[in-house]
Formats: sequence, structure tokens, C-alpha cells
Amino acid sequence: AQQRYASLRGLPAQSKCGTITTLMMNAGLMADLPSLDGSGAEGVGLFRTELQFLVRNKMPQRAELAALYARVMDAAHGKRVAFRTLDIGSDKVLPYMKPQDEPNPAMGWRAIRVGLDKPGVLRMQLQALIRASKGRPLTVMFPFITELSEFQTARAQVMKELHREKSLGHPVPTRVEIGAMLETPSLAFAPRAFFELTDFVSIGGNDLKQFFFAADRENERVRRRYDTLNVSFLNFLSQIIARCDETATPLSFCGEDAGRPIEALAFAALGLRGLSMRPASIGPVKALLRRVDLAEARAVIDRAIAEGAESVRPALVDWLSNQPE
Ligand code: PEP
Ligand code: MG
Repeated sequence: AQQRYASLRGLPAQSKCGTITTLMMNAGLMADLPSLDGSGAEGVGLFRTELQFLVRNKMPQRAELAALYARVMDAAHGKRVAFRTLDIGSDKVLPYMKPQDEPNPAMGWRAIRVGLDKPGVLRMQLQALIRASKGRPLTVMFPFITELSEFQTARAQVMKELHREKSLGHPVPTRVEIGAMLETPSLAFAPRAFFELTDFVSIGGNDLKQFFFAADRENERVRRRYDTLNVSFLNFLSQIIARCDETATPLSFCGEDAGRPIEALAFAALGLRGLSMRPASIGPVKALLRRVDLAEARAVIDRAIAEGAESVRPALVDWLSNQPE
């Protein structure tokens, strides 16, 4: 199989119906970047920036972060890297920050909430990203955006830092793309202005699912209790896809489910055109997407839903077993 995936490396994830799905990889370390070429990923759909903050016992300096981000962009050879600003709190706690001792950290003071309330670290990180990307495009995305005003404020922070760098006479990125991660159900129902303002939306399925099903992603008893292919969740995803389509907002999915072939197939069949996953999943997902007709897969999903299934998985698996290799 490994050899078969390698032979697909330079080929698009083009399904029998002609539809192409963009497959990207998730990363968080400089050491992940060689996988970009190795896997055939078209870019880094999610670069988690927490590790550089977690591995040391004091706050990293702007200059070291800028150097690291520049090395990541160099190693990407012009492919797009979506840098997700710091998502601390919840499951990731910095050793040099006062612990918050929250009863429900996943739903507490985390991610962009911290970034907006105490903007010092976010500003420093944005400055580092801007400095790293001089002379090339920059893609930034904010984690855990829950309402329009949070995105407006976070986006304005980027504009302010860009303006500041320019006024200091520093070179700035050639283009800046600013997106939001959709990780709370609330954002799916935000005013249309949100979808118009954001350059793209990336679904953080790990968090989105835990809040959709009210099932803690860290709790072994419940984390796998509800199927991603549960009809309720797929109906919800379809609504998000429709809202993004209305405003022509690019949409991708970067939770762990994007790297599971059957899940990836269902997402693509529903209309998701971007999937970001661990590098090792690109081959298997691409192989499956190339084997099938997404319109047919969509019909299978729609039929299962019409027949009242709780999950479309059995129907999809059954249909797949009859597809030619
Ligand atoms: C997610 O929530 O799906 C996601 C990609 O972010 P993280 O797993 O880092 O919370
Ligand atoms: Mg998340």
C-alpha cells in the first residue's frame, strides 16, 4: 500500500466525477515540514503554534519565533501554511503562566479569548508572523472564534500590527489572508457579515464535535460514543457548507476526522473541498477519493438520511465494498 500511495504523490485527489479535493497536512514542529513533499500535501492547513510555547520554561521571544516561522515558510517552498495563533488554556497549559484552575477549561478562558483579553502575547505572535513573512504571503487563523465581534477584533489586531510594521519601515507580507476556525456551534449561525469578512473558514472538528455532541474529547468514556457520520452532525456540516457557499467563503476541515478515509469521503461528498490531516493520512484518503464518484457517494448519504438512519456509515461502507479497486 505504501508504494501505491507514493505513486499517487504527484496526482490530485480527483474523484471519478471530476471533483478535486485539496488535501493539506497538519503540523506543529519544524521537523514536520519535510512531510510536505513526502506526502504530496498541497500545503499546511493547520500549523499549531503551541509547541514552541510549551517546550520551554519561559515565554519565547519575538525574534526567536519570527526566525522559526520564517524557517517553516522556507521549508514549505511557497506552499501555503495556515498559522493558527496560540490556543492555550483547555488541554494546553503553559508552565510559566498562572494556572487558571477552571472547572471546565475546554469551555473556559482559552485560545482567542485569552488573546483578546490579554493581547500582549497575541500581538507579539502576530508581529513575529509578519516579520517572518516579509516578501511573501501570510496566512493566519484564529482558534475558537465564537462570535462575529471576536473575529472583527482579532482581525483588526492583525491590521494594526501590519500598519505598525509599515510605519516602522519594515517589509510586510505581499498578501495577508485572515481566517477563523469554526470550533463552536455558535459560529455556524453567526451573521452573514462574519462569512463575508473572513477570508476562509477552517472547521476544527475535534472541538466542534465535542461541543456539538456535548461529549468531552478527553474523556475515554464518551469521546468515541457518537459517530462523526451521525446524521445530526452531517446535517450540521451541510449547513456550514451552505453558509460558506452563499458568500463564496473557502471552507476546509482540519480535525482528526479529515484523515479517516470514510469520514473524508463523506465530507467531500457533502461539498467540503479542503481537508487537512496528519501527513500519513494523505495517501489513504487520496487513494479512496480517486476511486469513487462523489455524486454517487452523496446519493448514498442522502438515501440513508431519507431512510431514517442514525449514521450513514453502514450505508457508505456497504456501497464502498461494491466499488472497483
Ligand atoms: C480541532 O479542534 O479540531 C483542531 C484542529 O484544533 P486542536 O485539535 O488543536 O484543538
Ligand atoms: Mg481545536
